[in-house]
Amino acid sequence: MRTGLYPGTFDPITLGHIDIIRRACALLDRLVIGVAINRDKGPLFSLEERVAMVEEECAGLAAETGCEIVVHPFENLLIDCAHDVGARVIVRGLRAVADFEYEYQMVGMNRALDSSIETVFLMAEARYQAIASKLVKEIARLGGDVSNFVTPGVLARLEGRFGAPAPARGAKARD
Ligand code: ADP
Repeated sequence: MRTGLYPGTFDPITLGHIDIIRRACALLDRLVIGVAINRDKGPLFSLEERVAMVEEECAGLAAETGCEIVVHPFENLLIDCAHDVGARVIVRGLRAVADFEYEYQMVGMNRALDSSIETVFLMAEARYQAIASKLVKEIARLGGDVSNFVTPGVLARLEGRFGAPAPARGAKARD
């Protein structure tokens, strides 16, 4: 049984994350999505909300891909979390060069802590590569339309926080 751990903050889960989850499912029998509590990052959504959003979006994916998906909140060391859930593989998504340096350091440190756990990097489809939770939140907060970056369920939660987006840019005002 090949089990992988895909850790992140998922604040909130985006179409980029979902693309990575779908790709990881094609390689694994069981994927544990580790939702980091990450108090330091000051998440917009509570842990319960982030877990609920990931569970909602993954319900269909498990049936579609045949991979078991488990959502697991965690606060401990990533390597310890991997042990806890029986994962030998850590899955990460790579977007741009900007992600590389941090990920490179993480692999080095995690390998020093436990060399038996391998990290694999997956890339999302081109149209999802630029999506970042941080920017989605920023755009939604400023009244922009984020419907191309998240699912309708996540969009509803963002609108619950920030209100519906402003009318489309460039649209002519009606008399
Ligand atoms: P973290 O706080 O660890 O950066 P995130 O929730 O932002 O958590 O991201 C979790 C993982 O998903 C990271 O490996 C990140 O690089 C990856 N990821 C996020 N968005 C995308 C995307 N659009 N394409 C590919 N990978 C992504």
